[in-house]
Amino acid sequence: MAKVLLITGASRGIGAETARLAAARGYSLCLNYLHSEAAASELLDSLRRDGHHAIACQANVAVEAEVDAMYRAIDDEFGRLDGLVNNAGILEQQSDLVDMTVDRWRRIFEINVTGSFLCAREAVKRMSTRLGGEGGSIVNLSSRAADLGAPHEYVDYAAAKGAIDAMTIGLAKEVGDQGIRVNAVKPGLIYTDIHADGGEAGRVDRLKTGVPMQRGGSPLEVAEAILWLLSDASSYTSASFIDVSGGR
Ligand code: NAP
Repeated sequence: MAKVLLITGASRGIGAETARLAAARGYSLCLNYLHSEAAASELLDSLRRDGHHAIACQANVAVEAEVDAMYRAIDDEFGRLDGLVNNAGILEQQSDLVDMTVDRWRRIFEINVTGSFLCAREAVKRMSTRLGGEGGSIVNLSSRAADLGAPHEYVDYAAAKGAIDAMTIGLAKEVGDQGIRVNAVKPGLIYTDIHADGGEAGRVDRLKTGVPMQRGGSPLEVAEAILWLLSDASSYTSASFIDVSGGR
């Protein structure tokens, strides 16, 4: 039976690339998105054309009722869940902390942190062997920013990813005896549209000379690490982090 995977923020960037790779490796998929309906539909259609079992669910991961409805759709369509990629995330405009607003911090923490907590909670309810599930794997998208701090750009985003690091360790310890592994990937400078949303579309190229490997990374290079952590090939790996950052 195909394993069932929920990828949040699967309409573009790292999430979409992870969906393509996961489908190619035999997973059935729930593709979550928020605004990019056309991109999500296009991805869904292309996966279905290739014979994969997939659904798309529009849900704001920071809104409990919408996350609940998304999980009910997964229950109805697949009747099981084997993995979660907590990938949905946002940046705000580059700024010093001194100029940031409380509203901005609320958005950053609600989507990047509360959203990941909500999706993880619902995944644990379905995958925990203690609660009748068959176990599974959760992969959180952290960031190298959690360690580098993102000064003059997004200290709030870096702090939110620091919270994801702590959640990865704590949840892994909580559910380690319930058949669930929890790990995180920490991308560095990856070519996606998130940088344009932060106000600098060319950010990766500006900073790439500071990367030991002298280049930015591709979404596929991140997806490969995510897929390894989801798979049985990493069966003794939990509460762990993989930097996908060219050494930066
Ligand atoms: P991206 O291209 O901007 O894509 C972000 C995805 O998240 C989109 O599919 C978006 O959906 C979704 N999303 C945003 N807010 C959402 C919400 N409230 N509910 C549901 N979905 C939501 O970003 P990316 O670069 O692929 O980043 C993916 C993850 O990797 C993020 O967690 C990011 O922080 C992390 N990361 C990225 C980099 C990098 O250099 N790119 C580096 C380190 C970490 P819609 O478009 O449908 O709204």
